[in-house]
This record gives sequence, structure tokens and C-alpha cells, in this order.
Amino acid sequence: MATIIPLNPMPAHDASAFLRAAANGPAHAGPIVDTRGRALSDLRISVTDRCNFRCVYCMPKDVFGRDYQFLPHAELLTFEEIVRAARVFVDLGVRKIRLTGGEPLLRKNLEKLVEMLARLGDLDLTLTTNGALLAKKAKSLRDAGLNRVTVSLDSLDDATFRAMNDVDFPVANVLAGIDAAEAAGLSPLKVNMVVKAGISEDSIVPMARHFKGTGHIVRFIEYMDVGATNGWRMDDVIPAAEIVRRITAELPLAPVDPNYSGEVAQRWRYADGSGEIGVIASVTQAFCRDCTRARLSTEGKLYTCLFATHGHDLRDLLRGDFTDMQIRNAIAAVWGRRADRYSEVRTANTVGAPKVEMSYIGG
Ligand code: SAM
Repeated sequence: MATIIPLNPMPAHDASAFLRAAANGPAHAGPIVDTRGRALSDLRISVTDRCNFRCVYCMPKDVFGRDYQFLPHAELLTFEEIVRAARVFVDLGVRKIRLTGGEPLLRKNLEKLVEMLARLGDLDLTLTTNGALLAKKAKSLRDAGLNRVTVSLDSLDDATFRAMNDVDFPVANVLAGIDAAEAAGLSPLKVNMVVKAGISEDSIVPMARHFKGTGHIVRFIEYMDVGATNGWRMDDVIPAAEIVRRITAELPLAPVDPNYSGEVAQRWRYADGSGEIGVIASVTQAFCRDCTRARLSTEGKLYTCLFATHGHDLRDLLRGDFTDMQIRNAIAAVWGRRADRYSEVRTANTVGAPKVEMSYIGG
């Protein structure tokens, strides 16, 4: 029988007590690494749990319907709280910050947050969006200091795309957002496509062909068992190797070295020199051993794995009488005991385990 390895060796009700004790514990100096020697260098910040799409594999309508209770505004971290937390993470070695959600462009005055984060120093500041509001916002985001953007787009076929986002949103508007982002200088621009068997797999080659030669990098993502609402089955996954095989049969590819250690996507370039693609094989070729990412949820919970069951309540410290140094100690303590490597130990048993939703923790 398969063994289930706990994602975090601490019951949820003790998490806050642990954080408070760690805040008042010994000071942490120097770069931090977890129990597997992984540094902390990336931070993903979810700025809202709401989305204007209902992608069938992420926020299915029968769960996230009209009656679904999203977080009330008072529960959300304020921009000041987000920036304060981010500053502490930067002190601990974070060099890349990605804003996500839900749909981050739904958060009111997001440009203001971008401007505040950009002042933290020499960071790679980026954002993942479904692109619906990008045509309107690309320039103001760039002016505020955003470096780059990743746009999610699962198909170029309008009927398929409308069915996948399940709110009848047309492809053309996302493509207009991509053009606006390019014009604003938010590049290199990445396009994320989730490949789900029988749903978007026919879009693999058209997507590659459409963006080949544009300078934009399409990243084909294996459909993952995040959350507990999408009814994931291994049969729904088209393995990255198969994705590459299908593209290279028509548009020959050659492998490329990673840009840096820990890069999520495996890189491939077109043999004719007209650009590159990436494949994110988090199911068939897990990359936990290089994972340097922490995630801050909309209401301030710190997660160290996309597949986690619970987070650590940083908001409790941010709204309490704790100094930046104490918050730094608490984050360092959480990272120091991090042992999670879900994708490497995924089994038929772990797939059904309770996990936070992607729309809540941020992609
Ligand atoms: N709303 C933004 C967007 O659409 O990009 C940001 C949040 S969304 C949760 C981030 C990314 O997660 C998207 O690219 C989405 O396609 C991807 N995603 C969501 N559920 C997924 C799943 N089960 N497997 C793989 N990727 C998934």
C-alpha cells in the first residue's frame, strides 16, 4: 500500500501558535534553506480569491456558483500589509514576486500595489492573468513598474476557449490583451496553456504555430490535481513528452538548457531559430527538488507547497504587535522546517487528499 507523506508535519490548529513562538524565538541570520537544502527565492502573492472566469478545471461553476462565499474585503491583506510582508521576504532572499489570484486584475487599484512593490528594489516583478482586462490595464501596470506578464490561454479555437472559461469569453479579447501587453513593453511575455486530454489537446499544435516567431513563449502545462473540486484523473493528463512529440512532428524542436537552476518549465527551441516554448511537467517529471517558491494567500496565509492542506497565518502577526524582525524569524522558521515534495510522492491516494484550491492560493 502506498505511504502518504504529510505535506507539513504540523496540525492546522497549532500553526498560529507555532508562528507566534517562532517570532519570539531565536533570530535568523543569513540565507535560509529548508530541510532539503532549497533556498527561498520566489514569492507568489494572491491578491484576490475572485475570478471573472469559471474555468472548468479550476473554478467549476457547480462549486463556485452564485452562492459561493468569497472572502469579505476585511479579510484580505491590505496593500500596506502585502508590501510589508514582501519586504521581509526580500530580506530573506526573495528576488522574484508574482501577483496572482483568483484574477489579480480584479483587485481594485492593483497598479498602486505594483508601484509600492516596485519600490522594494531590484526585483523581477510579474503577474499571471487570464488577460480579460489586460487590454485596458497593460500600460498603467507597466507605468507602475511591472516587468512582465504571463497570460493564461487554453485554446485559440473560440468555441473551445469559451467552453473552457465557461463564461463565454471570446479568444479575441485575450489576444488583444496580449498585443496591448507587448505594446506596453511587458515582455518577454509568456502564454500558459493547460493541456487537458480530450478538451484542449487539439489546441497544442495551433497554439505553438500561432505564437512561433512572435517572441512570446508558450508554456504547455500538464493538468494538475490541485484542489479538490476539479475531479482530476491521471487519464486527463497529456504528458509533457507527448506534448513535445506532437509539436516537434510538425514544428521541429531541440532542447535548451534552463535559464537558471529551479526553472519550472523545460525549455525547447524551434530548430529554425524562430523562438522557444516551455513544458511544465509537474505531474510526470516533478521538480520539487528545485522548488524555491513560497505562496502568500489572499488573506495572508503562508504556504510552502501548491498542494498544501493548510497555511501559516502571517496576517495574525502583521495585524498583531510584531516587528518586522519577528515576522522574519517566523517566516524563516516555517521555511526551515519545510519538507514538502508533493509531486514527487503523488500517488492515487494523495490525489484525493484535501488540498487548498488553486484559485485561493494562486497559480
Ligand atoms: N486568473 C489568473 C490566470 O488565469 O492566469 C491567475 C490564477 S490561475 C489559478 C493561474 C494558472 O493556474 C492559470 O494559468 C491556470 O490555467 C492554471 N491552473 C489552474 N488550475 C490548474 C490545473 N488543475 N492544472 C494546471 N494548471 C492549472
